Amino acid sequence: MADSSLRRLAGELKNFLQACDEDEFINTAAAPAQTAAAGVSRTAAPLPPMREDSTLTIDFPRAQEPQPQPTISTEPLPAMMTTTQKQQALAELADTIKHCTRCPLGATRLNAVPGEGNIDAELMFVGEGPGYDEDRQGRPFVGRAGQLLDKMIAAMGLTREQVFIANIAKCHPMTDPQHPDKHGNDRAPNAGEIACCRKYLEQQIAIICPKYIVALGGVSAKALISDAKSLGALRGQFHNLSLDSVKLPRPVKILATFHPAALLRNPNWKKDAWKDLQMVMAEMGLKGPSR
Ligand code: SF4
Repeated sequence: MADSSLRRLAGELKNFLQACDEDEFINTAAAPAQTAAAGVSRTAAPLPPMREDSTLTIDFPRAQEPQPQPTISTEPLPAMMTTTQKQQALAELADTIKHCTRCPLGATRLNAVPGEGNIDAELMFVGEGPGYDEDRQGRPFVGRAGQLLDKMIAAMGLTREQVFIANIAKCHPMTDPQHPDKHGNDRAPNAGEIACCRKYLEQQIAIICPKYIVALGGVSAKALISDAKSLGALRGQFHNLSLDSVKLPRPVKILATFHPAALLRNPNWKKDAWKDLQMVMAEMGLKGPSR
């Protein structure tokens, strides 16, 4: 008797283990009482046989590949110069520029044009290169385009003396260097001239360390933002300035807009240029000229 009870229990246990799903499992769990009461043995449906070529694959979580972590420089940023240190450093730089012959423009210029303005300025304007008038005077933006730039600066509620104005190339690029007296002979500096000259501008920016730069024209914008996009794609947003040759004491934001010479040729663009300047005004908390 004890042996037959043991056999029955073993059969029920076998049925339990062969249950295919939860429902069958529950039914199977309930069956022993019923079958015991009815005295009927229950046969579980056989499981489908496993194919011989079946393989059991289990996806274990993969160990995380170590990701490269951004390196945080522990080098201290250079300190901001005092006004006296800036004056001396900019004067030495201007002297170097005036004697520079690193690129062919040095051979055809009348005067190098290092740049001018407030050496403690929060805002700096950077154009492409000196033109006919600038070459003669050794000062940036003094021709018709310069007069328009003065108006743009005034519309922001500033004066020329409150900002710093410079160019990427410090000497006059000409389409026809054989005839330097010809008007309408200006051109933008080419990539080789920019590469030769840009370290002077970078040093000026590092010395003055403005908070904001307005890049005037596509050539200036592409060179300073280091992006091959068109001026149209670069406009309308601030970019973080990153220089090749020097480290900045603090972050500098740069915004691209139209060159004043381009605005003289296409007055319809003035509306968009004004929107760009208003972005800078909003960042700087400028309200425009007081009336
Ligand atoms: S453009 Fe710049 S690199 Fe070329 S000669 Fe003038 S200062 Fe020197």
